[in-house]
Formats: sequence, C-alpha cells, structure tokens
Amino acid sequence: MKKTVLFLGILLWYHALPATHIAIIGCGYVGLTCCAVLAHQGNSITCIDTDSHKIELLTTATLPFYEPGLQERLFDVQTQSFVSYSTRMADAVAADIYYICVPTPINPDGSCNCSYLYQAYDTILKTIPSHTVKIVCIKSTVPPGTMDNLAARTPNHLLVDLVYNPEFMREGSALNDMQTRNPIVIGGESCDAIAQIKTVLQNALPTIKDVIITNWKTAELIKYSWNSFSALRITYVNELANICRTIGADITLVTRALGCSEKLLPTADLKPGPGYGGSCLPKDTRAFAQVLNNHGFLETLVHQTIRSNEQHKKQLLQAIETILSSRQDIKTVTLLGLAFKPNTDDIRNAIALDIIPLLTQYALSINAYDPKAMLHMYTQFPHVSYCATAYDAAKHSDLIIVLTEWDEFKALDLAHIAQICKTKHLIDTRNIFAPIDLKTFGFDYITMGSV
Ligand code: NAD
Repeated sequence: MKKTVLFLGILLWYHALPATHIAIIGCGYVGLTCCAVLAHQGNSITCIDTDSHKIELLTTATLPFYEPGLQERLFDVQTQSFVSYSTRMADAVAADIYYICVPTPINPDGSCNCSYLYQAYDTILKTIPSHTVKIVCIKSTVPPGTMDNLAARTPNHLLVDLVYNPEFMREGSALNDMQTRNPIVIGGESCDAIAQIKTVLQNALPTIKDVIITNWKTAELIKYSWNSFSALRITYVNELANICRTIGADITLVTRALGCSEKLLPTADLKPGPGYGGSCLPKDTRAFAQVLNNHGFLETLVHQTIRSNEQHKKQLLQAIETILSSRQDIKTVTLLGLAFKPNTDDIRNAIALDIIPLLTQYALSINAYDPKAMLHMYTQFPHVSYCATAYDAAKHSDLIIVLTEWDEFKALDLAHIAQICKTKHLIDTRNIFAPIDLKTFGFDYITMGSV
C-alpha cells in the first residue's frame, strides 16, 4: 500500500512538471540513451525506428543491444510510463520536438552519407501539420553545411525550426557521459528554438554546466573537431608506443608525464596563432622527427605537425601578400608584437622574422612596437621604425598586424586606434580583438577563424 502511494506520488510529481512531447527518430545507442534521460525527467517520448524487429523488442522491454545501465533505466517503472515505440512517424504527430538520431555512415569515397538523415527529415516534413511550429533537432553527426541543406529542403508552408545538438557520449559509458561529462552544444538560427532545447536539456541534465550556444556551422564543426581531436591523441600515443618499444623507453610513464602537460597548456586555453615559434618547439620537433626517421618511422604526426606549421605560416604570409598587392594605397604597416610569444624578449623563430623581410620587399614603411623585444629585433632590422607605444606605432598606419598577444595590446583602445590610423586594415593573428568591436570601429579585418 505504502509503495503504491509513493509511486503514485512520484508520478503526480513528474506530471506536475512542464513536460514536453518529444519524438526520437532512430532507436540506436544515441536515440535510446537520449530517450532514457529525457523520459526519466518526465518528458513524454515517442520513439520511431524503421526497423520493425527493433521496435518489437523495445515494446517487450528488451534493449536491442548491450549498453551498461541502459536496459534498467529505459524500462524502469518511471521512465517506461512516459515512452511509446512505433515504426510509424504518424504516431509522433503530436510531438513538439523531433530528435533525429539516425546513422550517418561513410560513403565509399569517405564522405558522410546523410541519406538516412534526409529520409527521416523528409518523413517528418510529410507528417507534420502546416500551421504548428515544430523543432527538429539533429543529434546525428554531420559535416558542416548539412543544417543548411536541411533548411533548403523545408517547404515554405511548414513552420520548422532546425537545431543542431551534437552528441558526445561513448558506447560503454553512454548514460554516464550524457548525464555528467559532456558539454551541451546547441547550434541554431532561432532564439526560441534554442531556448526550448536548452530548457529541455538543462532540466534533464542538471549537473552539466558547460553550455555552448552557437550557429549551425560552429556546432557541426565542434563535433567533427571533438572526434578528430580524440583520434589524433590516440594516434599520437600509439606512435609514441612504437618508438618506446624500439628504443627501450616506457610508454606508461611517457603518457603519465604527458598528462601533466594539460596543466601548462590546458586544452580549453588553446588558441590559434601565426604558427608555433620560439627556441624549443621548432628545433625539438625537427630533432624528434630525425630520431623517428633513424628508426624507420618516416611518416608520423610529428612529421606532419612540422609540415603543417610551415604551411600555416606560409598561408599567413600569402594572405598579407594578397592584401599588399591588391591595395596599392598601403604605404605604412604597423607590427604590434615582435617576440615569439608574450612575456619574453625572445625573437627566435618569431613570425616577425618572416614578415619584416616581406614588407621590406614591397618597399613599405614599417612601424613596430613590442614591450620587450625591440632591441633584439633592431640588431637584425635597423631600418624598422621602433616606437615608444602601440599608439605611436599605429599613427598614420595603413595596415596593423598583431603578432604577439601581450596583455597591453588586449587593453588597447580600438576607438582611438581607429581615429589615428590612416586606413583601417587590421590582421589579428592572435584573436585578441573581438570581431564585433573591429566591425563597430570600421576595420576591414582578418582574424584566425573567429566570427
Ligand atoms: P545506430 O545505428 O545504433 O542507430 C540508428 C537507428 O536509426 C537504427 O536503429 C536504425 O534502424 C534507425 N534508422 C535509420 N534510418 C531511419 C529512419 N529514416 N527513420 C527512423 N529510424 C531510422 O546509430 P547510433 O550509434 O545511435 O548513431 C546515431 C548517430 O549519432 C550517428 O550519426 C553517429 O555518428 C552519432 N553518434 C554516435 C555515437 C555512438 O557512440 N554510437 C556517439 C555520438 C554520436
């Protein structure tokens, strides 16, 4: 009796919450984990899958695959009462939100096969009424541009808000990952739809504090970057294990020490720049590549990193050259920062060493300012005008190039710089200025991939 009252109490409490009707399309690892989490929180869920055998199993409370804890969570009394399963999209017509979790395998040429996604989306479009706003939220992993393609497939008479909410869970720890470890990334164009998805997810995942709201393309790229970053790190450790085995070093201790590098350079603090320089990374990666070569490892991530860094520097120099050759009115260029990084006067392998000769080739006047590195640079390039302040360097300039992210540059008054420079061209190789501020003060600018 007591148990029944308690159960009824719990049910009443859940029903008192503002429940959302959600359809989950695709009953695989992602779809069913998502279902378990959202239903447990009291949302009403209709799960749709084209695989009738899967639906049969699910209606008899059997998980079609093994995933720790998922069978128990999905079919516990609370959760089960909020979930129904069907092969027919029409059974989900009352849903406010459609979560698409279908497979996106690769085509023979290596590209992403989005046909299941388009098929699922088209079926939703055929099913939903024309007068009601519906949110379609994609959880499948897709290449950048896919959300635009989905938007283009949507007929004008339907009121569909598309959102991308990538999933980061791993099989084997899916529930725990989704509930406690992963960020919430929401990419969208409609503020209302973003807000609704955010509310649903934050109610269901109260312990997750990392919420990133962005546009479709950034959200799409976050998921690909995430997986490739994992692949990159695993591959690097495998390559290190090979060299350890060959020279008699211990990979267990090497990776333990590498783990500590996260304290010096946390992944969250990684920022793009003009390419790594300084006294250590360029020489030590090259010397390590040589060690690897000597043991027959000729094509490793270290080799590719060296090439990629060179390529990255070349692309920056090409971008500067493109501006210089297309804008004959550029006569004076300002370099802010000469050291290879802030808080040092070291100019070894600094990008300024490549840029000054390029500007000299174009017979331009060069103004430069760096809080500590000007003396070293003067010994190599005495023809540059070294200035007392960043503002002095920016005066009458036609192009400002930020090369080092000194704190004092981050605090510069952009409005004042916009007034004192001659032409408002700016290249920010360290992303120290917010694009919105550069736009506000009328700069024509290039950053390293920030929008
Ligand atoms: P899955 O193969 O386990 O399940 C997908 C389900 O979708 C299948 O049951 C299939 O029958 C169903 N389906 C296919 N087309 C359908 C349609 N038109 N309508 C309804 N149902 C349809 O796939 P998954 O592992 O859950 O992955 C789904 C997506 O999530 C993929 O894009 C994947 O890359 C991504 N992802 C997977 C994981 C993971 O660990 N598995 C993690 C993060 C992201």
